[in-house]
Amino acid sequence: MTITAVDNGVRQERVLVTEIPGPRSQGLMARKVEAVSAGVGVVLPAFIERAGGGILVDVDGNHLIDMGSGIAVTTVGNANPYVSDAVAEQAHEFTHTCFMVNPYVGYVEVCEHLNRLTPGDHEKRTALFNSGAEAVENAVKVARSYTKRQAVVVLEHGYHGRTNLTMGLTAKNMPYKHSFGPFAPEIYRVPASYPFRDGPHGGKEVAEWATTRIEKEIGGDNVAAIIVEPVQGEGGFIVPAPGYMTALAEYAKAHGIVFVSDEIQAGFCRTGDWFAIEHEGVVPDLITTAKGIAGGMPLSAVTGRAEIMDAVHPGGLGGTYGGNPVACAAALGSIRWMEENNACGLARDIEAVMVPRLKAMQENFPQIGDVRGRGAMLAIELVEPGTVNPNAALAAELNRYCHQHGVVTLTTGTYGNVFRFLPPLTMPTHLLEEALTILEAGFEACA
Ligand SMILES: *Cc1c(COP(=O)(O)O)cnc(C)c1O
Repeated sequence: MTITAVDNGVRQERVLVTEIPGPRSQGLMARKVEAVSAGVGVVLPAFIERAGGGILVDVDGNHLIDMGSGIAVTTVGNANPYVSDAVAEQAHEFTHTCFMVNPYVGYVEVCEHLNRLTPGDHEKRTALFNSGAEAVENAVKVARSYTKRQAVVVLEHGYHGRTNLTMGLTAKNMPYKHSFGPFAPEIYRVPASYPFRDGPHGGKEVAEWATTRIEKEIGGDNVAAIIVEPVQGEGGFIVPAPGYMTALAEYAKAHGIVFVSDEIQAGFCRTGDWFAIEHEGVVPDLITTAKGIAGGMPLSAVTGRAEIMDAVHPGGLGGTYGGNPVACAAALGSIRWMEENNACGLARDIEAVMVPRLKAMQENFPQIGDVRGRGAMLAIELVEPGTVNPNAALAAELNRYCHQHGVVTLTTGTYGNVFRFLPPLTMPTHLLEEALTILEAGFEACA
């Protein structure tokens, strides 16, 4: 199929004209060290000055293949004209009023789209915020207000952000939580389905461990919300075993618990459906979205059942910048592009190219313990051959190899041993194939 209007003039070719990072990037990196807090890390210190399609162009003129989309954000492609034009137009009209002071139609339209696109045909409402973490915090506020309960249940390997409440909801200590406590109370963590590491235990069984834990340690009727990621992102692109999500959702329903699908990484066509929970046949009560929502502009949302979202007292939700008009214009452009170009189909096309090649690599390299994911959210988990022992050292080495060869890759996972792929849906197939060929060469060199 043809993709409309992604061409912003960036040549769709990998070109290396210097080492990575090149001299200009190295000079800028020295300035970064002097000016920016050391707490803000950088994965690949090549400074970018242009991007589009499947390419990031750095300040030295290198054209890098983008296999990360800025962590699942530029799903519609970087500087997609549907987004850039909408942003420019809105920025010339007005840049801010604060929706709570003087409203504007863009905010309402984004909410209407989210109510329409998210799973379930019940009546829905949406509220807009700035970041993913802020959306998750607000989902907790809404669930507590509606249920008049306090406890929040999250999963092992879960990731929900870096603010105080969401650090508490997040599983992994390093680098997200270390030295930043104390964390908020009334957060409980229960077993997650991790098929590669669960041995013979299926989804229903792991869900039963989780619900038993809730029952014994908290009491179902003290729980305001269960928050899940339909495909765990920072935890390692873990697709739950069949039956796990349905069992948790049924338990939530039976106990009046608000079931929240955190779709911040997996939503907006990333997994080949508009929202990843659709693969599980579960209709969540609330959905949090961000990353892929607005082509790179900061915007996030909580969408859900009208009676839950409307339970909050007037004025209880909001924030100065939430649903900024420029960010809303970007979201409307992004959603229009997704609908006109069958973005979910594009994600499935990427899966169809990548999974067979990754599986073929697995035949040759026993360090690839698992190939998994959905759509354009795919990963390989690296192990010591013949075991499930995490091989984080190889993941780091491969990552370095890919970066040096002009492919922007990311690792992830509780054990740091998962190599993840999040290409923009505008990635040309020849670049996707080339990235995989470089990865394969990386295995030849490092494994
Ligand atoms: C990235 C992410 C968040 C946090 O989003 P920010 O915009 O970084 O605050 C929350 N949940 C999930 C599943 C994420 O992947």
